[in-house]
Amino acid sequence: MIERPRIFLSSPHMSGLEQQYIAEAFETNWVAPLGKNVDSFETELAEYVGSAGAVALSSGTAAIHLALVLLGVGSGDIVFCSSLTFVASANPILYQGALPVLIDSEPESWNMSPEALERALREYSSKGNKPKAIIVVNLYGQSADYARLNQICDEYEVPIIEDAAESLGAVCNGKMSGRFGKLGVFSFNGNKIITTSGGGMLVSDNLALLEKARFYATQARDHARHYQHSEMGYNYRLSNILAGIGRGQLQVLEERISRKREIFENYRKALFPISGVRIMPEAAYGRSTRWLTAMTLEPGSVAASVTDIIVHLEGFNVESRPVWKPLHLQPLFKDVKYYSHQQDLDVSRHLFENGICLPSDTNMKEKDQKFIIDQLAQLLQGI
Ligand SMILES: *Cc1c(COP(=O)(O)O)cnc(C)c1O
Repeated sequence: MIERPRIFLSSPHMSGLEQQYIAEAFETNWVAPLGKNVDSFETELAEYVGSAGAVALSSGTAAIHLALVLLGVGSGDIVFCSSLTFVASANPILYQGALPVLIDSEPESWNMSPEALERALREYSSKGNKPKAIIVVNLYGQSADYARLNQICDEYEVPIIEDAAESLGAVCNGKMSGRFGKLGVFSFNGNKIITTSGGGMLVSDNLALLEKARFYATQARDHARHYQHSEMGYNYRLSNILAGIGRGQLQVLEERISRKREIFENYRKALFPISGVRIMPEAAYGRSTRWLTAMTLEPGSVAASVTDIIVHLEGFNVESRPVWKPLHLQPLFKDVKYYSHQQDLDVSRHLFENGICLPSDTNMKEKDQKFIIDQLAQLLQGI
């Protein structure tokens, strides 16, 4: 039997343009965490999202960590964070010795619930314990509802860090994802919509803040001929080689988004008519990139469970996964305070217990997706 080549949720998809930038780095011997590719990648990405500037970093996690450092988050401070996300959104809160408070999702966008956020802010402010920052995550290529979230945060004067690791290229009310906080974060990890194999970016309209980010990302070196340091720093810059990959990738980002949306459309058309299947909605205020196609199965009304599907597809060497397990259900955050969407409605728990992410790889062939859709349709209808 020939083994089927594995089909991934989302794997690196090179354009062929990357090699020229890498070659250039080798020819000029800029095999270092700075150089022309880093500068150009920053300028090109800032231009794409429309921010005043950008700083290329070694990972999205490093970008979130530096954002907290820049906003002065330290030991004992409170930081709110979306609960339905990858652990990387919240780990940097712990690095700083700060205290996370987790906020539920709303059903419309699967992202931070403005209702839950407002309740949490009201309670914490009334106790004189306002958070230092709020980390808002945009899941699976879809922007959170910033018209409402920004309004609430402005009212309480708390800055937003936008974790746009999964939403590069998404649009919300005519503005690109990553531009809705004081600082925005992107990731170029191998599974993201474009990749540098590993890497991240911090964007902002505040250039002084970004200059400070460069300072902290290169061991906080003071202006002096010798090595002098007055503050603690980090080694968080992106290498000039990897930035070269990023430049080649950025040129095909819009193509990748179109293909991701097409993959989503194919799933939607075939599976949405099946009763009990709910595709992750696209919020009316913008464009989702559909980085991953996600859906929920209403318990009791479909013939197969999320686990049935994952196990069945794995038999064909096809990767699928449950929706992120919310942080408030993780052992790591078991003692952390959590605000659900409504007093007795835990949206992120429901999405986790009934949600699945389908293979959304732009490398996937039409016939492979068709095969997967046929398998899903049969399983869900019990035929
Ligand atoms: C991938 C991801 C990150 C972390 O990015 P890395 O580059 O892997 O460090 C942070 N937040 C979310 C929501 C992510 O999906």
